[in-house]
Amino acid sequence: MAYHCASDRHVAATKIRCGLPAGPARRGRIHDVDNVAIARALVDLADLHELGGTLPFKVRAFRTAARAIEGFGGSVAELAKKGELAEVRGVGDGVARRIKELLETGKIAEAEALRAKLPPGLLDLMNLPGVGLKTAQLVWQERGITTVDELEKAALDGRLRDLARFGEKREDKLIAAIAAWRKRAAAPKRRPLAVAMLAAEALVAEMSSVPGVLACDYAGSLRRRAETVGDLDILVAASKDDAHAIMDAFAALPGVVEVLGKGETKTSVVLEGGMQADLRVVPRESWGAAMQYFTGSKDHNVAMRTLAVKKKLKVSEYGVFDEGGAKLAGDDEAAVYEAIGLHWMAPELRENRGEIEASQTASLPALVELADLKGDLHMHTTETDGKSSLDDMAAAAKAAGRSYIAITDHSETLTFVRGMTRERLREQKKKIRDVEERQGIRLFAGLEADILADGTMDLADHLGELEWVVGSVHQKLQMPKDEMTKRVVRAIESGKIDCLGHPTGRQLGQREPSELDMEVVMAALAKAGVAIELNCSPLRLDVDEHIAKMAREAGVPVVLSSDAHSVRELDHLRYGVGIARRAWLGPAHVLNTRSADELQSWRSQRRS
Ligand SMILES: [Zn+2]
Ligand SMILES: [Zn+2]
Repeated sequence: MAYHCASDRHVAATKIRCGLPAGPARRGRIHDVDNVAIARALVDLADLHELGGTLPFKVRAFRTAARAIEGFGGSVAELAKKGELAEVRGVGDGVARRIKELLETGKIAEAEALRAKLPPGLLDLMNLPGVGLKTAQLVWQERGITTVDELEKAALDGRLRDLARFGEKREDKLIAAIAAWRKRAAAPKRRPLAVAMLAAEALVAEMSSVPGVLACDYAGSLRRRAETVGDLDILVAASKDDAHAIMDAFAALPGVVEVLGKGETKTSVVLEGGMQADLRVVPRESWGAAMQYFTGSKDHNVAMRTLAVKKKLKVSEYGVFDEGGAKLAGDDEAAVYEAIGLHWMAPELRENRGEIEASQTASLPALVELADLKGDLHMHTTETDGKSSLDDMAAAAKAAGRSYIAITDHSETLTFVRGMTRERLREQKKKIRDVEERQGIRLFAGLEADILADGTMDLADHLGELEWVVGSVHQKLQMPKDEMTKRVVRAIESGKIDCLGHPTGRQLGQREPSELDMEVVMAALAKAGVAIELNCSPLRLDVDEHIAKMAREAGVPVVLSSDAHSVRELDHLRYGVGIARRAWLGPAHVLNTRSADELQSWRSQRRS
């Protein structure tokens, strides 16, 4: 009996995670996310009570309510607002009170208090496959085990087998389950923007050619160009009759390794590499509203809905409706915004960071676009650690639409990549003039010069001969904050660099940013007239959108650079453009939107 309780809980949890209805798909399930979050909070509350020793029958109401809310066809949050929670069968006064508290404060104080009383590892333990609440309680009370590590050790030592309903087999299963859980926990849950974008583009390309698909695109945080992305949200417009076949086609795509759930309006799959992708099929007449709704962000949508309510309108993923239920917009995203008195705004702005207000006053920023980038001021060649020759880089950059590039190989101190010496730089400069003529693209003879540990520049006495200098930190990235700040400021003040390269040194999911007082660095950049790089390499995206915004506010020009190490990587610029747009950067804030001549005059102005 004890195991039934435990596994029931897991069934509920799995369902919740996928957000799919358990039985036949119900129509009009339009508030999955809100309902799911509420249901999950109630299940947690019930668990916490039981672990804390409250009698199960006393907490049964929470579980019943959670199940009812999870399967409810409308928005429970909306009902709560109107004080009509009693409409959900299974939700009594006590539960209703807690839901209201959750919606108003983001938490349930009772749950917080219970949680504070429990050993911290216990909830993790309970979520292990094959453990569950009852077993967690058992091993805690009988063996004093409160963490996964302790449980694993006890199973390996054979100290669990004589517990009620245990045995050697169950111990072995548990050991395997813990190993699998560790592996999953170690896998990154959010992927870099570039990984998500490539995966989504492939899915969209495949789905676009499926019969019956009228439109297909991706939405979600990827469309907003967040630097990391969780799940992919793919939308298809199609008639209802075709939906089933389209779902089947999606589930059968190459690269799909697991189908988590297939419903009438939504199919969830896991892709190779572990990323989850959700496909939603929406009617053609709701396409714009659905793209708007599923692009988010949540905060943006809440602000938008609030505004709509003031105008006595209702916005959903089906469209904008007036009080009488008449549809004012739906098929076109811009029309959805216009119907509630707003101008369409770029997805990158939709974070409720002032874009709604800017839209109302027609003061939305003009955002930089890839096509605005006339040059690329950071790249490597086979001279150091690049994979493509100078010739090839120049030709490829020209083909990609750039009218100038800077060749910035590494400097001497980086011996492990054959850093450039003065002599080799002079040789390269001659070659650059030659290639420039042959390829018909303006080339700057540059260098990515290392900022040494004390803040002086590698090859300092040679930098004056170059046409573009990126100053970067590559070694000793883990200095104390004040030391690191002094080091970088000294480099900025040297008068020898044009742009501070990948300023924080972070690598997404791999390396934390260096400790740096960005306010101080930004002030130094502004004073010295040095630009800051937004390195567009997908693993770096350095600086991030917050620092890029600081640069805009401080009047420090931003350089979007590919840091390409091969011709293919010249394409990196597009990822950085997304980040720049999230920082509200327009063409005027980005230095390499200027022509080669304008850039050189910016440079000589600063130097004089
Ligand atoms: Zn570098
Ligand atoms: Zn580089």
